Amino acid sequence: MSSDVRNVIIIGSGPAGLTAAIYTARANLEPLMIEGEPSSTSDQPGGQLMLTTEVENFPGFPEGIMGPELMMRFREQAMRFGTEVITEKVSKVDLSERPFRVWVGDADAADPTYRSHAVIVSTGAQSLMLGLESEKRLLGHGLSTCATCDGFFFRDHDIVVVGGGDSALEEALFLTKFARSVTLVHRRDSLRASKIMQDRALANEKITFRWNSTVVDLLGDTTLSGVVVQDVHSGETETLDMTGVFVAIGHRPNTDLFTGQLDLEDTGYLITHDGSKTNLEGVFACGDVQDHTYRQAITAAGSGCMAAIDAERWLEANVH
Ligand code: NAP
Repeated sequence: MSSDVRNVIIIGSGPAGLTAAIYTARANLEPLMIEGEPSSTSDQPGGQLMLTTEVENFPGFPEGIMGPELMMRFREQAMRFGTEVITEKVSKVDLSERPFRVWVGDADAADPTYRSHAVIVSTGAQSLMLGLESEKRLLGHGLSTCATCDGFFFRDHDIVVVGGGDSALEEALFLTKFARSVTLVHRRDSLRASKIMQDRALANEKITFRWNSTVVDLLGDTTLSGVVVQDVHSGETETLDMTGVFVAIGHRPNTDLFTGQLDLEDTGYLITHDGSKTNLEGVFACGDVQDHTYRQAITAAGSGCMAAIDAERWLEANVH
């Protein structure tokens, strides 16, 4: 165990965490960032942008930039100002005593690995996926989880959207601006989405509904060439000639570490107030772990800046 008590530990390294790192580092707080593990799909360093291809809506990059490269640049900028980055996964936190305690590796170890006066939580969220082997191969190559990010690449394509909630209908409606056709595949015969979204989607001529159906495979070696759907009642399968598929079956915030310690919404998202404050003084949250509305790299980065400024002010008033 390090005997040092850090000013601030940042957990998670997507656009929110890395922006918090840049700001706290430039405020001479010598932040420690625990960035996650490369082998993990939920805690990978760099967050969800590591799973995308081209990012065209991040201001400052008029030609677009690949998601992983953008995150590498964020990381370089954070390190340039003195952020210490640890490439491991947090296994446990204890926010019940001060300084706060954080473990990596053996969560049963008596002593924490690190201690800090303030913590910034930026552990992000993950899109729920269908669990198909082919999803790993085709994510970013015809398979997407974000129409706002990727819809533009699907001009005149025939697209499947999976799901029956507000997200799926929102994605489907947005995609009609680009796609030749949108087929909504839903596992039941009625939608979960709000009435107004249902009305809009049902009235849209570009959207057709494939009820009581699930997607059981995605075809194509390097880019998506077909979607295999199965009727849940008859078990019959059919291959649809599609070149785009958007999975919109919900998101899951990465808040397991904080359950029982920080206030969470019923849906698992961290609750923040007055900017980035959580219910615990000295613990701040930013990015997708506390935002189910916008979920954009630029909004995550903005909230990371807010968390850094809030943490700096809190440390100034309470610790130093
Ligand atoms: P959601 O409401 O949980 O809907 C998820 C949908 O995906 C459901 O239709 C569900 O089917 C389906 N699904 C779940 N797992 C599946 C699987 N393994 N295979 C196939 N289908 C699966 O999630 P959401 O649509 O992301 O919405 C989350 C929350 O955000 C909701 O409260 C929603 O109202 C809100 N939201 C609001 C807006 C808006 O107001 N504009 C936009 C987006 C989201 P079942 O119906 O059979 O369970």
